[in-house]
Amino acid sequence: LPGDCVCPAGPALLFLKTSQGRGQGRRFYACSACRDRKDCNFFQWEDEKVSEKRLAAREEYNRKHQPPFTHRQNVERYKNFILLPLSKRRFCQECQQLLLPTEWENHSDHQFLCDISTAQLKSPSQLLHPLENKKTNAQYLFADRSCQFLLDIITDLGFRRVLSVGTPRLHEMIQSKASQQEDFRVRSLLLDIDFRYSQFYTEDEFCHYNMFNHYFFGGEAARETCRRFLHQGNGERVIMVTDPPFGGLVEALASSFKKLMAMWKEMEKEDMCHNNQEMPVFWIFPYFFESRILEFFPSFSMMDYQVDYDNHALYKHGKTGRRQSPVRIFTNLTPSMIVLPVEEGYRFCAICQRYVSSGNQHCEICNSCTSKDGRRWKHCTLCKRCVKPSWFHCNKCNCCALQNHECGKTDAGCFVCGEAGHKRSTCPSLSCS
Ligand code: SAH
Ligand code: ZN
Ligand code: ZN
Ligand code: ZN
Ligand code: ZN
Repeated sequence: LPGDCVCPAGPALLFLKTSQGRGQGRRFYACSACRDRKDCNFFQWEDEKVSEKRLAAREEYNRKHQPPFTHRQNVERYKNFILLPLSKRRFCQECQQLLLPTEWENHSDHQFLCDISTAQLKSPSQLLHPLENKKTNAQYLFADRSCQFLLDIITDLGFRRVLSVGTPRLHEMIQSKASQQEDFRVRSLLLDIDFRYSQFYTEDEFCHYNMFNHYFFGGEAARETCRRFLHQGNGERVIMVTDPPFGGLVEALASSFKKLMAMWKEMEKEDMCHNNQEMPVFWIFPYFFESRILEFFPSFSMMDYQVDYDNHALYKHGKTGRRQSPVRIFTNLTPSMIVLPVEEGYRFCAICQRYVSSGNQHCEICNSCTSKDGRRWKHCTLCKRCVKPSWFHCNKCNCCALQNHECGKTDAGCFVCGEAGHKRSTCPSLSCS
């Protein structure tokens, strides 16, 4: 990577532009975090020579896109903010920023919230409005039920440290429990690209991080914070939990997660306690990415648990009468250890040695509980596998498909939801409620 291929989100990523019918295609660098050129206009052909003038403009652009305060400054500001009486605690909704009284004037024509309580400061994910960039940066916050479930299994499995990568709500739940219950010993470090969180957490609690290029905006000091956190001194076991944007590139994510896992491993070696193990991971992602994730992480398996979200109309739990969430947990832990709640309809399959959805029937022929979406799937003897209940075997295509499919058309479908007829950029499952 050329040294100057840097945009406000850190080092750019190399992409391939495939030109139809013209063989090879051409490679180019673009922003790792934004798929939309409107959000970050960084672009450079791999073999392009960039003029001095453009480099200077780029530097200027990067400088302008720096946040108004550094993390250190934000930590200082927070200290001053909590000393203020309630009546003087304001939060600017337009700038998404806690305001000190001397700054009120500059925000006089902005909307703000008053009387910011300590409870509000402890749940920044409620105070900040979720980012809504449809393409990659959309924030979907865990419903309380799912967040509580995650934390329960983490503590039941005996983990004491959680590396929260793009999971601000889980981080927040852990932080507030730790400050309220003395016997609650779990700690969390949040890695996220959303710099607004630096207003609420110290450098030991939050690192500004890009999970598409494994970039720590805080440099070596932040990297060191992460490394120290992963060090499991006196047997404090670590788990990484991540819930990346679904439009994200699996390959880029996997490469970053491997680097975080390698960081953990390095610390392991020093301790010489475990051998040949991987850092335990929960990767939360839609089920239709299963084969992509397993390609990069063969040791992972997909749990049937449906993760649901507060601000996503389509992704709420089936039991509430809405559509079922397609989001699952992928993990390298032994599946039988992940106990799913019986009261929500999950049951244990003794043959598969894992918990499955109530609708997921064990298929005698596949010798596995084959449903991916929670509905009961049916076995097709011609395809020699289980398929969705709405599919039928088409003799022309020689495989199972929807009844009204167009024969001979092998449409890979949308990258996000797997359905045919639209592309990732217009996927209906990604729109906010
Ligand atoms: N369900 C989670 C939030 C998931 S939304 C929860 O409730 O805690 C995706 C998260 O990933 C957001 O917090 C978003 O800010 C973060 N994110 C998006 N792009 C990122 C990137 N390139 N690097 C790091 N974090 C990113
Ligand atoms: Zn403002
Ligand atoms: Zn089974
Ligand atoms: Zn089957
Ligand atoms: Zn079939």
